[in-house]
Amino acid sequence: MKATVYKSTGSWYIVQNEAGEVFNARMLGKFKIDGLTSTNPIAVGDEVEIEMENELESGVTITAISDRKNYINRTSPANKYKHHIIASNLDQSLLFATLKDPKTSQGFIDRFLIASEAFHIPSIVVFNKADLYKEKETGRLAELQAMYEAVGYRVIAMSLENGLGVSTVKDLLKDKVTLLSGHSGVGKSSFINKLFPELELRTQVVSGWSGKGLHTTTFAEMFNIPEGGKIIDTPGIRELGLVDISKQELAHFFPEMRALMNECQFNNCMHTNEPGCAIKEAVNAGIIHTDRYVSYLTIQDSITEKTY
Ligand code: GDP
Ligand code: ZN
Repeated sequence: MKATVYKSTGSWYIVQNEAGEVFNARMLGKFKIDGLTSTNPIAVGDEVEIEMENELESGVTITAISDRKNYINRTSPANKYKHHIIASNLDQSLLFATLKDPKTSQGFIDRFLIASEAFHIPSIVVFNKADLYKEKETGRLAELQAMYEAVGYRVIAMSLENGLGVSTVKDLLKDKVTLLSGHSGVGKSSFINKLFPELELRTQVVSGWSGKGLHTTTFAEMFNIPEGGKIIDTPGIRELGLVDISKQELAHFFPEMRALMNECQFNNCMHTNEPGCAIKEAVNAGIIHTDRYVSYLTIQDSITEKTY
């Protein structure tokens, strides 16, 4: 029987089959997936094959996992050379940001966009709490919107308070699998509760062996949207890590740089001080936004090369 993983704790899973039936699942043996050393081999969003276990009430065994379209991971907290796969088979990622109470930095947004590029997931940025924006924030929003839309990202202003943009965002989620991200305080829970009040926010474990007393709040979890589509919430995951991105590769994950980098004089150009750099020329000509270039330099500085 085919099923989809809705929750994974690394040792047990909640899966749903095509008929909408929910099961506790476990895995017997080990799968080698994507050639990765992973601390949790099965992730939320995975398409799996399950078999009933007669002796366990509502318990099933995962016997196979389908190839992933994409996935997001982060370095394992226990071992930084191991990967922890958070979610897979995503259609898009949505970042909740705010310009007031609290303010999301451009660096935070850029890191999210870079991670999404690296994972091959289209992303959308939603600026929530627009009802609180005064002239200053409204001006900043227009700047950011122009800057990000020029490089291909969708930017939406939203207010859960007065309803601005809410239906636009809701429409974007329909029939898609969407990862929701954002630092705390931006309104992610309010959004989920407002749009999907009927959605059971914490999946109930049906019965049986379920890892009693386990703290599950930091695990990603997927929910069905009543109108169609799924959202994946990642409580406790502040930001997508820039796993495996080297200084040399970084520019690939800025679409506006990717488009020009073949024109640099040196093919190993890092776009910092090299002569004949097409990226720096584009910055000077106003084709690439200075703030994005500054982000690039800052993030490049923060990447510590692996030495293994
Ligand atoms: P989370 O940490 O991202 O899940 O944020 P919450 O959903 O808990 O929201 C944090 C606070 O922001 C709560 O007090 C919400 O009522 C408030 N909030 C959420 N959306 C809006 C909004 O659009 N406008 C205003 N003014 N407050 C909001
Ligand atoms: Zn260059």
